[in-house]
Amino acid sequence: MTPRVCANCVLPETFPRIRFDEHGTCNFCLDSQDKGSREKKAADYREKFKRLVSDYKGKSGYDALMCYSGGKDSTYTLAVLKETYGLNVLAVTLDNGFVSNQASQNIHNVVERLGIDHIFFKPSFHVLAKIFRTCATRDIFPPKTLERASTICTSCMAIVKSSALRLALEKDIPFVAFGWSPGQAPITSSIMRNNPDMVRMMQKTLFDPLYKIAGDDIKPYFLEEKHFSGDYHFPYNIHPLAFLDYSEDDIYRDISRLGWEAPKDVDANSTNCLLNSFANVVHVDRFGFHPYAFELANLVREGYLDRSSALDKLRRMENPEATALARERLGIA
Ligand SMILES: [Zn+2]
Repeated sequence: MTPRVCANCVLPETFPRIRFDEHGTCNFCLDSQDKGSREKKAADYREKFKRLVSDYKGKSGYDALMCYSGGKDSTYTLAVLKETYGLNVLAVTLDNGFVSNQASQNIHNVVERLGIDHIFFKPSFHVLAKIFRTCATRDIFPPKTLERASTICTSCMAIVKSSALRLALEKDIPFVAFGWSPGQAPITSSIMRNNPDMVRMMQKTLFDPLYKIAGDDIKPYFLEEKHFSGDYHFPYNIHPLAFLDYSEDDIYRDISRLGWEAPKDVDANSTNCLLNSFANVVHVDRFGFHPYAFELANLVREGYLDRSSALDKLRRMENPEATALARERLGIA
């Protein structure tokens, strides 16, 4: 049976801590901010970013390290950083063993057209597969993380984020950029200086469970004690889509000029990763709600996506070929 869904956004009754009022509107919608104050905040953040860019641009070899998945949002963000803000960007892609062929082609086309330096970082698949296999059957991170992403996704992102931060520290790059959509991360976190104490705490939450699975092999993907010694400049994390105009249609139109084409072998919620479908299936089976429900609900509530498209993304069948491929490569019956 399909669960009841908020009349305003797309959060289902199976979502943690959800309540509905007499009109069928959820508490997340009732608690959300009005559009006017969001636009004012976006303008403030645009101004803040402009100031930081003028402070840091040209001071180091690279101005920004972009965590570049090759998906539509990070492609668009990469283009904005280079073309609108004129930053010298180093794009880094983590190859988790499930990069769609079309996504690889897109990455190649985009960095070439934009004239951007790029690194493919491919951790050993033995290590990653061990982690993904465990995450398919166990919730190894704090329960709160399950509201926003599957455990498989969170484990992969932990490696992406921490290895990017490590590289930025070692290359003295002042910004680490992400292509989070405005539904994935709030505007209030869109420009944040990494604070060593906080990084240490957050790293522990992610590192410890992964260490139990894969041991010393994961050490190079995280910060070591020397990085906290005071000899390194901690960069700002930025996700500019939170304070820029965001529209899926405009993004697709804009990035097609860079030779970007939508991959056909992925699921409805990813434009690069072949593991996502399987991760979604596992999450829905275990918790009864889709790991993209929170993001899509935010996008609908804030007027970036219409409700019926969001419902379609959540209800469309996962890609059976991608799911089978993931099971096979991970050795899961
Ligand atoms: Zn709602």
